[in-house]
Amino acid sequence: MIKAVVGANWGDEGKGKLTDVFAKESDIVVRFQGGNNAGHTIINDYGKFALHMLPSGVFYDHITNVIGNGVALNIPAFIKELNQLVEKGVPMPKLIVSDRAQIVMSYHILFDKLEEERLGKAQFGSTKSGIAPFYSDKYAKIGFQISELFDEQWVSDKLDRILPAKNILLEHLYHAEPLKKEDIYNELMEYRNLISPFVHDTVKFFQTSMDENKQILLEGQLGALRDPDFGIYPYSTSSSTLAFYGPIGAGLPYSIDEVYAVTKAYSSSVGAGPFVSEIFGDVAQELRLRGGDAGEFGATTGRPRRMGWFDVVATRYGCQVQGATHLVLTNLDVLGYLNEIPVCVAYETDGKRRDHFPNITRLDHSKPIIETLPGWNSDISHIRNYDELPENCKHYVDEIERMINVPITLVSNGPKREQILHRKSKLV
Ligand code: GDP
Repeated sequence: MIKAVVGANWGDEGKGKLTDVFAKESDIVVRFQGGNNAGHTIINDYGKFALHMLPSGVFYDHITNVIGNGVALNIPAFIKELNQLVEKGVPMPKLIVSDRAQIVMSYHILFDKLEEERLGKAQFGSTKSGIAPFYSDKYAKIGFQISELFDEQWVSDKLDRILPAKNILLEHLYHAEPLKKEDIYNELMEYRNLISPFVHDTVKFFQTSMDENKQILLEGQLGALRDPDFGIYPYSTSSSTLAFYGPIGAGLPYSIDEVYAVTKAYSSSVGAGPFVSEIFGDVAQELRLRGGDAGEFGATTGRPRRMGWFDVVATRYGCQVQGATHLVLTNLDVLGYLNEIPVCVAYETDGKRRDHFPNITRLDHSKPIIETLPGWNSDISHIRNYDELPENCKHYVDEIERMINVPITLVSNGPKREQILHRKSKLV
């Protein structure tokens, strides 16, 4: 059985919490794309954790955690996060890394920073973790797969091919110091030593796991609207954020049984790009401070998140491209302070009403069409049974489900594991 947890919006939807909730019943949790450029917040008995590189199953000793071939693996970040976990009393997790995963190099991070500086005001809002240069190199066939590190001559020859081109850019485009072959070679050998205890042929591992009917959880990073093909390109990330990339990025050639798309009960986004339902000023600040477990600030960068009302157009589209079989609504508790809750139900683009999420240039001209739903004006975070939610709160969920047309089967009313309510969907 394969389940995927993915984002229906721009990321930070609360996937980490949901993955943590599902992890209990899973045998294997897999990261299949992205790198340490985003973070999941998980709050459990060991404390509060922001995971960037590690799969969310690391808190359970019955789970094997897998970093798949589709991931941008930052080895120092991986080791640091692992050490932090163990220091906080978490038992050493079972963790394997695909021998086909590629490595984020220090020069990827350097190029990311230099390019954002060069672009100045026109920058993409990169987290400067080297992800775009990493994936560019991967597809230009000048990256390093972990398996390559075990052949020293191979590495040395490859560096002779790669470095001259990198150095021309560094010296003549960015006016920076060139890279020295010896330094990069030593970096790669150090990475090899650090990662070798974790390296496995994950394709083989998954073949056996499927034969043994294991429960596998694919853990997505960021959200549908950051997908390079179906998202808000070029304000997207550099690897596919979609559930159906999961089997490829994991090395698991089977179809997914259930896709859980996650969305907040309002919107938030980090980074640049059009965000139609965005709100500003005091109204945004109030929602920002009340949102999440400690305000809406990026788990990786600490940047204040951009805030908006729930966006039906973006979320419906996000669910469509995710192939969502379920929708999970998180952070519902956060809206308890509002008398009336604005919802973006459609867009107005160049004078026309639009229900379908448009392409980037039309998106840039779109304005939100807002309707309001009645608020419930109370704290719902202590409630453990969906039926006990205030009527207006259930009405809000019903309306969102009706407009998105994907069954909402789980609702999260707080950041903790136990703050999750099972709902009987009206669509099934
Ligand atoms: P992810 O990347 O999708 O896992 O999302 P993040 O962890 O970056 O952001 C979600 C934020 O919402 C975190 O601060 C979570 O602790 C918090 N969170 C998740 N679910 C809920 C919820 O139902 N209510 C509240 N108040 N916070 C939540």
